[in-house]
Amino acid sequence: MTRREELEANLTRVRARIEAARAAAGRQDQVDLVVVTKFFPAADVRLLAELGVRRVGENRHQEAEAKAAECADLDLVWHYIGGLQSNKAAAVAGYAGVVESLDRLKLVRGLDRGAAERGTPLEVLVQVSLDPPGAGHRAGAEPDDVPALAEAVEASEHLRLRGLMAVAPLGEDPAAAFARLAEVRARLVQDHPHADRLSAGMSGDLDEAVAAGATHVRVGSAILGSRPAVR
Ligand SMILES: *Cc1c(COP(=O)(O)O)cnc(C)c1O
Repeated sequence: MTRREELEANLTRVRARIEAARAAAGRQDQVDLVVVTKFFPAADVRLLAELGVRRVGENRHQEAEAKAAECADLDLVWHYIGGLQSNKAAAVAGYAGVVESLDRLKLVRGLDRGAAERGTPLEVLVQVSLDPPGAGHRAGAEPDDVPALAEAVEASEHLRLRGLMAVAPLGEDPAAAFARLAEVRARLVQDHPHADRLSAGMSGDLDEAVAAGATHVRVGSAILGSRPAVR
């Protein structure tokens, strides 16, 4: 099997999973696939684009910036899904079409400046933590901090608030975590009706995420294969 055939077969399987979950949930709306290409080369991104992928996700600034430059001729939207440093935020806005990992106020100004320099509005999702309060959590704003972050994005000329992103905590039933996420989303949409996107679900839990209303799933290993353990 060539790499292209492998990616095509995996994409077909993942798209069928998304479709089955969407149908089972009785949803009429669309669920978009963001293929997470971190650790994999630009050559894979190119094959994915040929296979109809339009959204790709990356979680490290240097790697993402280099790959986006190598693939500048392709019609792709880059989703930045990783931890952000405030001194890199403006640079991320230089290539990302969507930043999914805004989790603190400090990042807003840099993202806005980067989007202004690029001359294109930047779509932003607020990353919310689904870990129990007090847990040494991985990333994401506490649910109570989401309204202030949303206001700060709305107040930024070059940013467009589009919704929320979350990762289900390890060691918990993802359906329970995504149910909490759906509540946070319902509150956000009351104040910001256009911020109705929900990025949730990865290779292992996309089915539960779609059942809980995800409009974007972020899938890496189920399409590209397992990532190297260390880098
Ligand atoms: C790596 C990553 C993914 C994809 O994970 P897989 O389990 O490989 O599908 C999704 N979201 C985020 C935030 C990630 O860092």
